[in-house]
Amino acid sequence: MSRTAPRIAIVGVAGRMGRTLVNAVMQDDDAVLAGGIVEPGSSLAGADLGELAGVGRQGVAAVDSLEAIVDDFDVLIDFTAPKVTLANLAFCAEHGKAIVIGTTGLSDDEQAELDGYAERVPTVFAPNMSVGVNLTLKLLETAAKALGDEGYDIEVIESHHRHKVDAPSGTALRMGEVVAGALDRNLKEHGVFERVGQCGPRDPKEIGFATVRAGDIVGEHTVMFATEGERIEITHKASSRMTFARGAVRAARWVAEREAGRYGMSDVLGLD
Ligand code: NAD
Repeated sequence: MSRTAPRIAIVGVAGRMGRTLVNAVMQDDDAVLAGGIVEPGSSLAGADLGELAGVGRQGVAAVDSLEAIVDDFDVLIDFTAPKVTLANLAFCAEHGKAIVIGTTGLSDDEQAELDGYAERVPTVFAPNMSVGVNLTLKLLETAAKALGDEGYDIEVIESHHRHKVDAPSGTALRMGEVVAGALDRNLKEHGVFERVGQCGPRDPKEIGFATVRAGDIVGEHTVMFATEGERIEITHKASSRMTFARGAVRAARWVAEREAGRYGMSDVLGLD
C-alpha cells in the first residue's frame, strides 16, 4: 500500500452501488476503507462493512452519521440521492474533505448548488464513472462533428434495471449534452424526451431520447446517427456495477490530491 493512500468513506453502503464500492475499495491497494454510512436510524448501523457487501468481515462498522467518523476519512464517495448528496457536500465543505459524487437526477437548481460548494470542496461529479463510457463520450463528439449537420438524425436510447428512479439516465443526458455541444445546439431546446400521438415528422435538429426500464439491466446506452441509406450506432454496455465502482475509487485517489473545484471523469482519466 502506498503511504499516501487516501482514507475513503462511502455513503449509502447498504445500496446497490454502496455495496459494490465497499468491494472496490477493499480490492484497491492504494485506498483505505475508512468508514461507511447508512441512513440515520437504520438497523444496519454497527454491521460490518465487508459482511454488508458480502465479501467477508473487514473490521469496519457502518455508522449512521458522518459526524461519527469525521476524523477518520479524507474522501467521501456518495452514490445516493440528490438531497442527501447536497447535504453531504455541505458537510465536506465545513470539514475540509474531498468528495466523489455519482448520484444522478440532480435538477438545474441542485447542480447550481453543487457548483457553489465545489468552489470550496475538491469535487468529482460524473453521471457515469466507467472508463468505457467516458471514452464513448469522446467518440460521440467526433461522430457528431462529422455527421450531425450532414443529414444524420441523432437518437439516444438507454436501458436500466427496474429499480432506477430517474429518467432519462444521467449518462444519456450527458451523451446528449456532448452531442449538442459539438453541434452548437442547446439540449434544452433540441432535446425531445417524449413522443406520443400525432407528434408530426421529426425536426432535423432534434436529439431524441428513449428509455427502457426492465429487469436487472445494469446500464446500456446507444447513440444512433441515422440517415437515408445507413446508420451508425455507438453502444456502451455495462455488465457489472464494478466498472462504475472502480472508476469512483480511481476518482477518489485522484481528487484527494486536488485543489477545490468541480471536476469530471475526463479530468480524472486525462482525456481532455
Ligand atoms: P440504491 O437505492 O440501491 O442505493 C442508495 C442508497 O442510499 C440506499 O441504500 C439508501 O439507504 C442510501 N441512503 C439514502 N439516504 C441516505 C442517507 N441520508 N445516509 C446514508 N445513506 C442513505 O441506488 P443505487 O442503484 O446504488 O444508485 C444510487 C445512485 O447512484 C443513483 O442516483 C444512480 O443513478 C447512481 N449511479 C451512478 C453511477 C455512476 O457511475 N455515476 C452508476 C450507477 C448508479
